[in-house]
Amino acid sequence: MSTMTCERCGTAPGTQHTFHYGRAAAVADPPVAPVYHASAYLDPAGHVTGFHLGGVEAVTLCERCLARARARRAARVIRDWAVMPLVAAAYVVLLIGILTWAWAGEWAQAAMWLGVGVVATAVAYGLTYLVLRDEDFAQHTAVDLHSEKLRDQGWDAFWTDNEFAHLAPH
Ligand SMILES: [Zn+2]
Repeated sequence: MSTMTCERCGTAPGTQHTFHYGRAAAVADPPVAPVYHASAYLDPAGHVTGFHLGGVEAVTLCERCLARARARRAARVIRDWAVMPLVAAAYVVLLIGILTWAWAGEWAQAAMWLGVGVVATAVAYGLTYLVLRDEDFAQHTAVDLHSEKLRDQGWDAFWTDNEFAHLAPH
């Protein structure tokens, strides 16, 4: 296992991360294998959907590629967070404060509040990055890398171990 090469960069040694795949069961498509059902937790519409299970897919990823994926994901989370009305309003108030101090020539005050804004953003980014340092994120990254190949084979549903635990055999 330690001799496997990362599938993303193709150079560094990586470890395997597995996820589950399947496809939604159509009404006129009698299952040959047991059908699993998504709980309301997984289905945004609250409907119960039947799935044929396809199997388990393994993807080899190195730590550097996972770290890059985490950094990109954390940046997206912070960007989405910064445009939420309350947070965006706080940034606007902070910006007006900084401009007001700068206009009045109070550079120390302006710099201090600029520092507060930068540090708060950096702390939020750092915490988000740390939260993503788990196997669940690695499995989501594995899904990103192999879902297109599996879709070509007719599979349209993908679950990490955490998500798969919410499927119930029926
Ligand atoms: Zn890699």
